[in-house]
Amino acid sequence: MSKVRTIQADITTLSVDAIVNAANSSLLGGGGVDGAIHRAAGTELLNECHLLGGCKTGDAKITKGYRLPAKFVIHTVGPVWRDGNSGEPELLASCYLRSMEIAAHYGIRTLAFPSVSTGVYGYPVELAARVAINTVRAQLQNFPSIQEVVFCCFSGRDLAVYAQALSE
Ligand code: ADP
Repeated sequence: MSKVRTIQADITTLSVDAIVNAANSSLLGGGGVDGAIHRAAGTELLNECHLLGGCKTGDAKITKGYRLPAKFVIHTVGPVWRDGNSGEPELLASCYLRSMEIAAHYGIRTLAFPSVSTGVYGYPVELAARVAINTVRAQLQNFPSIQEVVFCCFSGRDLAVYAQALSE
């Protein structure tokens, strides 16, 4: 049985097969979780990202994890929140779906997501958590090789939001 759970942690510390990065479309590093992942993985990650040619919003690309405990990093580009009627939910759902497709393709069994788009990109966390959880729950049956999905929250407030949404 696949399992979905939430924890409060720095995602760079997790010993899972892959962590997901909330990247920007250049894939060349940024602030927030992206900056933390690049700092922890080392400059080889940036070198590999240079070869990828960027990534569209709603899509994802994979690299190795280098100095991270995680073997792989799946870089996904979340939507910038505008008004909620500009395709944001569909694009955010696509981030989770594409990340899972790539994870399954690479035989990844344990996968950790940050709260994509809810930092600098401004997506309200209550809404984003529902999209994230609904998408992952709906898709897990399509990817039976993925055994565990962790929603890794950085703040206690985000953890409370994800825990509430998971209990619904
Ligand atoms: P975005 O540009 O997609 O909004 P951010 O990195 O600004 O991405 O924020 C996404 C989420 O990642 C936020 O909830 C932020 O608190 C969280 N975050 C920041 N650093 C870390 C980290 N080291 N581990 C896990 N989550 C983090």
